[in-house]
Order: sequence, then C-alpha cells, then structure tokens
Amino acid sequence: MENLIIKILNNKQIDKDDALKLFDLEIEDLCFAAAKIRKKYKGNKVKVCSIINAKSGQCSEDCKFCAQSSFNKTDVKVYPLLDTKRIKEVSEKALENVGCFGIVSSGNALNDNEIGKLCEMFKQHKKSSHLGVSIGRISDESFCKLKEAGIKKMHHNLETSANFYPNICSTHSYQERIDTLKRAKNFGFQICSGGLFGIGESLKDRVDLAFTLKEIDSDSVPMNFFMPIKGTALEHLPTIKPIEILKTIAVFRIILQTPDIMVCGGREINLRDLQSWIFQAGANGMMTGGYLTTLGRDIITDKQMVKDLGLELESE
Ligand code: SF4
Repeated sequence: MENLIIKILNNKQIDKDDALKLFDLEIEDLCFAAAKIRKKYKGNKVKVCSIINAKSGQCSEDCKFCAQSSFNKTDVKVYPLLDTKRIKEVSEKALENVGCFGIVSSGNALNDNEIGKLCEMFKQHKKSSHLGVSIGRISDESFCKLKEAGIKKMHHNLETSANFYPNICSTHSYQERIDTLKRAKNFGFQICSGGLFGIGESLKDRVDLAFTLKEIDSDSVPMNFFMPIKGTALEHLPTIKPIEILKTIAVFRIILQTPDIMVCGGREINLRDLQSWIFQAGANGMMTGGYLTTLGRDIITDKQMVKDLGLELESE
C-alpha cells in the first residue's frame, strides 16, 4: 500500500483499480497524500460559495433523494421564480463575504421568460462574473443569452456514476447531463459538476464518477453528502460515517488533482466535529450558509474555521 502513496506523491497517474485501493488506506496516510496535492495546486487558499433556491419544489423529475421532486411527498416550500430584484439584492450582499454565488432553480429547465428575466438582472448586477447558475437543461439560445449577460459558471451535477444513475433517476438520462455540461464547456463556461454520496452507490461508483468528471474536465467539483429527508424515497438510508466522507474527498483530490473541490450539502450534519478535516482531505472550498432545502452553518463560524487552520479565504 505504501507503494501506492509513493506513486501518487511522485505524480504518477493512477487507474481505477488503484483508486479503489485508496479506500483501504489509513485515513492519516490518505489525507497526507491528498493535502500535498491540494497544497501543490491550491496553496493555502480556500474558496467559499453560497446559493439561493430561486425556484423551489414541484419538480417534474423523479430524483429519489430530492425534497423538491413531485414524486416525493415532502413538506418543502413551493414557490415560482423569485422576484429578480430580490435575487440581485441577496446575491450582491452575499458576495461581500463569499467568492461565488449560485442561483439554483428546481425543475428540468427554466422557460424562455424566466431565462429572460434572469438575464436582464444579470446585466445590472454589480458582480455578475461571480455568479453561477444551476438551472437544469439549457438550450443553445439560452447559453448565448446567459453568456451575453455576463455569467461565467454553469453548475450541473452528475450526482453519481453512469452505472448507478438509473437507480436514482429515470425521467432524464445521464447522457443528457453529460451533454449539457459538454455544451456549456463549448460555449466557454466554467463548469461546476459533482455528486451526492451515500445514496446506495458503491465505492466503485464513486471512483467511476471521479474519472468521468476528470474526463469532462469539470473546473469545480461540489461534493454533497446524503442527508435523509422525510418523505423522499431514500428517507430510510443511513448516513455516511465521517471517516468515509473524508476518504471520499481524498480519493477525489488524488484522482482529479487540479479542480476546485467544494464540500457542500451534508457537511455539518455528517462530519460534525471533523468539518475542519475537509482541507486535510484535499478540499479547497466549501459552501456556507445553508443549502437548497436544509440549513447549514453561518459564514462567521466557517470563516473562523478557515482562519484557525492557518488558511486564507480567496475572493475569486
Ligand atoms: S435534483 Fe433537481 S431535477 Fe432532480 S428532482 Fe430535485 S430539483 Fe428536480
């Protein structure tokens, strides 16, 4: 096993079989290698982002884990696209403290009218280049409009491996997700794509996802850790143990090497006292201040954690 760490530290590429063996290493050894790689590519800088759920609930898709799917019977708030003045205010305020702000909507896609309203707002936004959108499927025409309005980043999670994906969603395909990301890249957007872990997938599925993200060259990789939500099809699944979460982050850093690795949903609930270990495990960023349908930790506490670790916040 030591040979594998030496191979990684000597910048040798590892294959999927090697990557799977990483999960058997002691957490200290794995984190040692992952932290070295994080430091090599990211130095001491930490990115912090936050999001707004700009349109919530009643989604036509059947993602089994999601509180917003109309196939799941949850008590999630349901509302149409928020007033764009409000989105502008909230995002400009948030960007005083975080480097990137994501505007997220439920549903398979926004309609032309909704895209039009958002683009008008982006054109007047003080920091549109620090905004990202996560709005499902996007037509070529909408990609052009968003680009023209100053948006630089597109978020669209793959969620899991191609092999496991049919177990969590049947209303749209994995290939559609990959195509959306590839088209976003071709239009010159930075892409932000990652996954949700702990939804019944195997360690091999996690490794397969990391290699797919490497292949599509995701610039940023959000990692979410499953939190059971009452009323969803997965409400009875157990959560992942903190050490397994840290190992998964480390394996992603070792496979992916250069992209931003952002720890997002499930950090507080699943990692508890081990939250600060995410950086030792190779992450160089995190989401703060709450998630789509669940609460998170406040920015002041998260900033203090970064400072206490001797790391520096990056404003992008
Ligand atoms: S994950 Fe997105 S597409 Fe899937 S049900 Fe939830 S809001 Fe809809």
